[in-house]
Amino acid sequence: DELIRLYDLSKSFRLKGNTITALENINLSIHEGEIFGIIGMSGAGKSTLVRCINFLERPTAGGVIFDGQDLGTLSPAALRQVRRQMGMIFQQFNLLMQRTALQNVCFPLEIAGISGQEAKKRGLELLEIVGLSERANAYPAQLSGGQKQRVAIARALASDPKVLLCDEATSALDPETTDAILNLLKDLSKRMGLTVIVITHEMRVVEEICSRVAVIADHQIAEVGTVKEVFTQP
Ligand code: ADP
Ligand code: ADP
Repeated sequence: DELIRLYDLSKSFRLKGNTITALENINLSIHEGEIFGIIGMSGAGKSTLVRCINFLERPTAGGVIFDGQDLGTLSPAALRQVRRQMGMIFQQFNLLMQRTALQNVCFPLEIAGISGQEAKKRGLELLEIVGLSERANAYPAQLSGGQKQRVAIARALASDPKVLLCDEATSALDPETTDAILNLLKDLSKRMGLTVIVITHEMRVVEEICSRVAVIADHQIAEVGTVKEVFTQP
């Protein structure tokens, strides 16, 4: 089943009187439960693409259909609801440094109006899922890179999203820690049916966990297919 469809999606920015094209006529269909890779060189348009998927950036043309809803037609309130279905993690983790691991995970739950006790219970369950319960009371500065990313994943899962958007999520990690995080993502996808979109410049990451991949070059999709189809030399 299709979860996300990007149709004729273009995005350009106006900067000091110039138009900068970040994405040009992107068409892409992402299925429920798959781990989909988006690979391209720096500046190709990958970050802009994730930010268009969750409508943090509005496409200049075309649009995004998420779970049957065309995001461009939604009210701000409806869009906020849909965004809760899309978790996101980043290269630099983006944790709140003054809060513990558990408080970071509970933050979105509290914003959603869930009471302190209940949020804490759920937060601990989420830390358990990512294998970090024993570090619940540690501050981000006390955690390794891999542990910080685990906290970020737990936080992203707090709103029980359908999709996890990973923007260069392992690019700041060493190879061993990268493998551990990729295995966690694979496991989450298998166990919870989570759809995962992996944005990366590293072919190894795509080869290790993605079922399908799109190659972005010069702001366009150069190729889409299974990892084997796209990366096997003819
Ligand atoms: P990638 O993630 O693949 O490195 P980006 O999506 O960050 O690529 O950038 C694609 C292009 O869009 C680049 O040329 C970049 O400079 C430009 N761009 C991205 N965001 C903005 C912005 N807010 N304003 C102006 N140009 C931008
Ligand atoms: P992960 O277990 O998430 O893959 P790492 O491989 O980076 O994380 O870390 C391996 C182990 O080393 C962790 O379980 C942790 O106990 C310990 N560790 C590494 N760096 C730190 C740190 N800065 N503070 C506390 N413990 C650390």
